[in-house]
Amino acid sequence: MAYNSWLGCVRGCGTRHSIFDVVYQCETCGGLLDVQHDTEALKDRSASAWMQLFDRRTRTTQWPYGSGVWGKKEWVCPEVSDENIVSMYEGHTNCFWAERFGRELGVEDLWVKLCGNSHTGSFKDLGMTVLISVVKQMMSDGKPIRAVACASTGDTSAALAAYAAAAGIPAVVLLPKGKVSTAQLIQPIANGALVLALDTDFDGCMRIVQRIAQDKSVYLANSMNALRMEGQKTVALEIVQQFDWQVPDWIVIPVGNLGNVSALGKGFLMMKQLGLIEKLPRIACAQAARANPLYLSYQTGFREFIPVQAQKTLASAIQIGNPVSYERAVKTLSAFDGLVEQATEDELANAAARADRTGMYACPHTGVALAVLIKLVERGEIKADDRVVVISTAHGLKFTDFKVGYHDATLNDVITRYRNPPLELPADYDAVQRAIDGALAR
Ligand SMILES: *Cc1c(COP(=O)(O)O)cnc(C)c1O
Ligand SMILES: [Zn+2]
Repeated sequence: MAYNSWLGCVRGCGTRHSIFDVVYQCETCGGLLDVQHDTEALKDRSASAWMQLFDRRTRTTQWPYGSGVWGKKEWVCPEVSDENIVSMYEGHTNCFWAERFGRELGVEDLWVKLCGNSHTGSFKDLGMTVLISVVKQMMSDGKPIRAVACASTGDTSAALAAYAAAAGIPAVVLLPKGKVSTAQLIQPIANGALVLALDTDFDGCMRIVQRIAQDKSVYLANSMNALRMEGQKTVALEIVQQFDWQVPDWIVIPVGNLGNVSALGKGFLMMKQLGLIEKLPRIACAQAARANPLYLSYQTGFREFIPVQAQKTLASAIQIGNPVSYERAVKTLSAFDGLVEQATEDELANAAARADRTGMYACPHTGVALAVLIKLVERGEIKADDRVVVISTAHGLKFTDFKVGYHDATLNDVITRYRNPPLELPADYDAVQRAIDGALAR
């Protein structure tokens, strides 16, 4: 059976492009493009046949289906040929039962989807495998592409550089100087990308890379590129699959450029359309209070959208004032009875540290989501018996400075409530014994 997909205008003006065309916006009306699938063709398999197929492929060694993304190839990118797929077997990340943290909050059915347990340490790998595979196919078909390029708050560039290096495709990354973590900066350097550190913020880098990519030989890898959303939407399928095809009541997700929440929604809607699920979860978008254009727009019932100048936040990967996928996200939130909440620096840092005390190792963005979770439970929006999944977007190990700063109590605007600094002692048995006894007696 041949399955088809194409790039269609999100504003519904009817314009279509091949997924192998170098185009990021509707050439008729300027709207964003989405990958659309021939869902009638996909109905040739029943819902239970799809579920069985996806279950059977999970962790198979048969290329490329062991990848969490490519195990759903027919729903993601059916046209790419298997030999052009560039995959690190991304996806299939653990859904962590946050048992102790949940009990403390009074929500026992609390789970954290650890999307950062991935090759480059963030969920960005899910989308990048699709984008780079399509580019590899375009290049092997003779399209004159010289490089892939992106602006990034740190994780997109890490993923782009790694996948491009694996494929042998040159990568160019534009980063806001001094605004990404040490680990995020060194990742594309190590992978051999051309790293350009600019004296601006993410939004400033984005404006420049969009102009660079007007030359169609430089392929734009930012999330306005619809291909990445196809890979990222598989997180919705994975979550449902991990609950034996049951839908949770709530998903809480940290958001910046708003591509990931739109992808999440897309995955759920596709499962509903093809009969794998009957209900939809509610979605809560979590923003840093210092970079909160979606939150402000939500306050107006989405009647107004005003880009903001994003302020410096510990949640640096979502320090974005003018999100590209605003239109997509508003559609998603209305389909999922969604809401938007925000977290201050103090709230996000303490929420992450508190979660760490129960065995997690939360990055600051996951901290934003956890802080929002706490608020929603406190005001009764999330109920005690709801099943809740928090999306953890990156690995805490990429944000060592954040962790050290917290436990050293050197973070601005944060009053540390879960500090655990090391005790420095002489190499003396009695001193050590006393310290242990003192600590355990507390
Ligand atoms: C990219 C990113 C986000 C935000 O995703 P958007 O698609 O930009 O909304 C959140 N957390 C981390 C760690 C990220 O890298
Ligand atoms: Zn259009």
